[in-house]
Amino acid sequence: MSNQIRYVSTRGNAPDLPFHEAMLTGLARDGGLFVPSEVPQFSAGQIRAMAGQSYEDIAFQVMRPFIGDSFTDAEFKEDIASAYEGFAHDARAPLKKLGANHFLLELFHGPTLAFKDFAMQLIGRLFQRELKRRGTKVTIVGATSGDTGSAAIEAFRGLDAVDVFILYPHGRVSEVQRRQMTTPSEDNVHALALNGHFDDCQARVKDMFNDFEFRDEIALAGVNSINWGRVLAQVVYYFSAATSLGAPDRSVSFSVPTGNFGDIYAGQIAKRMGLPIDQLIIATNQNDILHRCLSTGEYRTSEVHPSISPSMDIQVSSNFERALFDAYDRDGNAVAQLMDQLKAEGGFTVSQGALQALRETYTSGRVSEEETRAEITHSLAHSAELLCPHSAIGVKIARDMSNGQSPMVTLATAHPAKFPAAVEAASGIHPPLPPHMENLYERSERVTQVENDLDALETHIRKNRRA
Ligand SMILES: *Cc1c(COP(=O)(O)O)cnc(C)c1O
Repeated sequence: MSNQIRYVSTRGNAPDLPFHEAMLTGLARDGGLFVPSEVPQFSAGQIRAMAGQSYEDIAFQVMRPFIGDSFTDAEFKEDIASAYEGFAHDARAPLKKLGANHFLLELFHGPTLAFKDFAMQLIGRLFQRELKRRGTKVTIVGATSGDTGSAAIEAFRGLDAVDVFILYPHGRVSEVQRRQMTTPSEDNVHALALNGHFDDCQARVKDMFNDFEFRDEIALAGVNSINWGRVLAQVVYYFSAATSLGAPDRSVSFSVPTGNFGDIYAGQIAKRMGLPIDQLIIATNQNDILHRCLSTGEYRTSEVHPSISPSMDIQVSSNFERALFDAYDRDGNAVAQLMDQLKAEGGFTVSQGALQALRETYTSGRVSEEETRAEITHSLAHSAELLCPHSAIGVKIARDMSNGQSPMVTLATAHPAKFPAAVEAASGIHPPLPPHMENLYERSERVTQVENDLDALETHIRKNRRA
């Protein structure tokens, strides 16, 4: 087929690729992120027909136009089916009513109890299929604030063609998150505790991608939320939720607990595909660079302040580059300049035109630590719902900022049992782990502590990956 979607770099200076190549590579060779050359449009009739369909059927329809010839329909259907088979809820992403016109989209019924499983379970299968077809192997290196790492390890553990190295900030993830990364015993799994913050982990992974010699030597692949395959898989639940609530005949708003901007950017894609999304709210914790940027036009990094919502303790929000690319009318040079400035000066000013474009799609809010704890208490008292701290931030901002014109959906990004200490401190209730994870505290751990040093990290990876 001639007019298939290709993937182009947000910095405008890398070859465009088909879906499977963009997925396997992760980051473009000019340092940019892959975005589709065009976004397919769905008619109102196509969207209306999704109401009442299974999650898997909606997933196939929403993602199919983006993957071109990379996989056949039969292959793609098979991988979607097996990706979500292990979820603990038949609806996969159930909607629960919290209040008059406010709904909670529960995205934590996958194997590692956070929304990351929706994408990771699927791309794990697509990776395996593509690598088998080629007869090659890859080394996945990923940075995590906690949930991406556990989801990636769960998706790739035991695969012959993949080694997976996960860098997490030492001492800054919850015990459940850490144990999900350190207890798998398969020898293709390598948990690395880095002395530094999440942003350090993310920066070192980016450095490895920009070290072409190393990148090619180990066949480096990335599964961070900068991987287009992950964003794509997250577009699906915007459709499943909105069509359950009457879209396309009624618009729907979303409040999204945000860190690296992958989840909410999937909402922007859904909107561009024709889903009537009214408000799309960036909900941040005290690490509020995105909220400040939307408010003032200044994107300026500062210190990371560790919070009780650690998966959102991020200053450099990678996927925001994709939103900037759109806001600058897909001008890769302009984006490359901003990113150079970010690296050299720690920040940049968004142009008036681009800021206006961003504000047409997004609104934003910030929640303090105190307010997060208060919201956990409030939701338990008023909706009988025990929320994880990230989800509580989304719910609080949704209530404060809803324009009242559309049903509001807050994305519940993790299960409360993934953050038991914070949840118990706020609510007095210790959230129990689901049955399949009950013995997590008895399993033995395996982890290597590493310094925030590119050479040392590359040496470690060279030495420890299976050839
Ligand atoms: C990853 C994560 C987030 C942030 O999602 P982004 O796509 O990085 O914006 C929020 N909450 C939880 C629980 C997460 O694991």
